[in-house]
Amino acid sequence: MQLFYDEGFIESAVLLCASRGETGRPAFAPGQAAAGRVQRLQISRFRREREKLYRILDPDERNAAFFKLHLDWFREWGLEQPLTDTLNEFPLVRELLGVLAVRRSTGKDDEGAELYVNEANRRTGVLALRLERLMQDAALRDYLRHEFTHLHDMLDPAFGYAPRLDLPGLNAAQQRLARERYRLVWDITIDGRLAAAGHAPLETREQHAAAFARGYSCWPEPKQVEAFNLLWHCRTPRHADFLALIADPRGLRDARRPAPGGSCPLCDFSTFHWADANVLPPEIIGRIRAEFPGWSREQGLCGRCLETYQALAAAGGAAAP
Ligand SMILES: [Zn+2]
Ligand SMILES: [Zn+2]
Repeated sequence: MQLFYDEGFIESAVLLCASRGETGRPAFAPGQAAAGRVQRLQISRFRREREKLYRILDPDERNAAFFKLHLDWFREWGLEQPLTDTLNEFPLVRELLGVLAVRRSTGKDDEGAELYVNEANRRTGVLALRLERLMQDAALRDYLRHEFTHLHDMLDPAFGYAPRLDLPGLNAAQQRLARERYRLVWDITIDGRLAAAGHAPLETREQHAAAFARGYSCWPEPKQVEAFNLLWHCRTPRHADFLALIADPRGLRDARRPAPGGSCPLCDFSTFHWADANVLPPEIIGRIRAEFPGWSREQGLCGRCLETYQALAAAGGAAAP
């Protein structure tokens, strides 16, 4: 496996590190002994070397020189160490991944590890990181371990990962809920394994249990607790088991059962005006199913949606010879 860095990531990381060092704040990754005077000398050397590179006229040559300089100091200041150390704990990732590319993430939402597989079955991992993470060594290692476990699972044949969730018969709202649940149960099994191995999980067992109870509030409590414990203690999670759990049709249907203020499975708006789905004419049901194959009567529909389908049916009726 090769480790690639995005140029912007490396540059921002060393510049952040240097600026923190100059202000006397803890700048360097702990474990790096460059303290006090040595640290300030290093930073001014880095600044001088960097200044010189602006004299290179050829833009490609100049960029290459900047990248090399930034990478050298990235390593010198111990910023690469947590990445390589943690990767060493994941032999399967190192063996099966062609490239791991590290880039800077702009926010919390696009942070994390992803896997890309091309037609030639070449596997590339992309890790997006917020710069601030580099400044906290222990927390960074915990985060990397969690994200690399995602990669490990995606690469492990025993896990049986598929990039697309195959959820036939679910409407758009149910599919979204199922995807949220997938993330939820996967994270539980990851943090459960990390905790069992003596590492710090990203979220505690209690936090995960509470999130699981919220996600499966339609289940009776004993069933919630039992399923959660199975996930938390699971050592060999499988994609297929997750699918069965997230797409439990009864659970999803109950989660969207017509309740005051609940969301309509067709338009996804919350409503207090549910239509009486038990007295729908077959023609309306047919029209709804044509658009939402996974829809069933028990899920209900809001009054506005019913009006729309009635209007469509009336128009269709009028047009018929
Ligand atoms: Zn996760
Ligand atoms: Zn509706």
